[in-house]
Amino acid sequence: MSEPILKVEDFQVYYKVHNGLLGKPGYVKAVDGVSFEIQKGEVFGIVGESGCGKSTLGKAICKLIEPTGGKVFFKGEEIEGYNSKQMRPVRKGIQMVFQDPYASLNPRMSVRDIIAEPLIIHGLASGKKEIDEKVIDLVRKVGLDVYHVNRYPHEFSGGQRQRIGIARALAVQPELIIADEPVSALDVSIQSQVLNLMNNLKKELNLTYIFIAHDLSVVEHISDRVGVMYLGNFVEIGDKRKLYDNPCHPYTQALLSAVPIPDPKAKKERIILEGSIPSALNPPSGCKFHTRCPKCMEICKQKVPEKTVLEEGHEVYCHLYK
Ligand code: SF4
Repeated sequence: MSEPILKVEDFQVYYKVHNGLLGKPGYVKAVDGVSFEIQKGEVFGIVGESGCGKSTLGKAICKLIEPTGGKVFFKGEEIEGYNSKQMRPVRKGIQMVFQDPYASLNPRMSVRDIIAEPLIIHGLASGKKEIDEKVIDLVRKVGLDVYHVNRYPHEFSGGQRQRIGIARALAVQPELIIADEPVSALDVSIQSQVLNLMNNLKKELNLTYIFIAHDLSVVEHISDRVGVMYLGNFVEIGDKRKLYDNPCHPYTQALLSAVPIPDPKAKKERIILEGSIPSALNPPSGCKFHTRCPKCMEICKQKVPEKTVLEEGHEVYCHLYK
């Protein structure tokens, strides 16, 4: 296997918080020692309930949030500890697409200016003619019309705004795009259009994606490999078919049991999880999922489960597989 485009090792993002007025400071461990790698051209889906740390992980990889510890290698180069000047070429290589395209687009800027801005900042185009040509090329690539370039974000639908966000990300010719819930705010019919666009762009431009979402069907549609997160850690990582056809971690099994299946006659037993996600400020001991796990054993309350490789391309963190 070739060198991964991105390698993340024991990555942590902790937030310092105070418990009440006189309370002792504590740490919310939003991302708590995560390791994974992605090959060039791959789509790695990250899935989990709200608050599991998946968005924080995405933002911290490209340093929109300062990580607490661990290492990140982009194309073999360790980027942790880089200052903002050193991060500049990395930022060009790694771009983010956000959940709420409206909030991430400056309402006072036209589409032309929104897409031209990164071209100018990174010195990829100069002079009105060259900038306009590149903007028009990008607008067409994402399926918008040329006349749209003079309009403003509020004049577009949610799906169109997400296309503008994608065009802006593509302007600097990135190799890796971290898409944080890019279709969650869109209607289902529009979701598939944006997913198809992302799929086509990936093939055309040889892109790599980290695709973050809470919806397992959406992640299944686009990903090659999927990691399931719970309270700041991966609990299962696998090639898409291995994970969806044979989910092994009780949490993955519960999440997948809740996904509707198209055939109404096909039977699927729904696994209902007790309680809600515990606080990341005071996570359960041992396996963090033990307070909700229907298969919890005594050891689960005491010992953090280590990685078990079930087969090539499928790993799980659970004492059931030791
Ligand atoms: Fe459940 Fe134990 Fe496995 Fe955790 S380690 S998922 S508590 S069986």
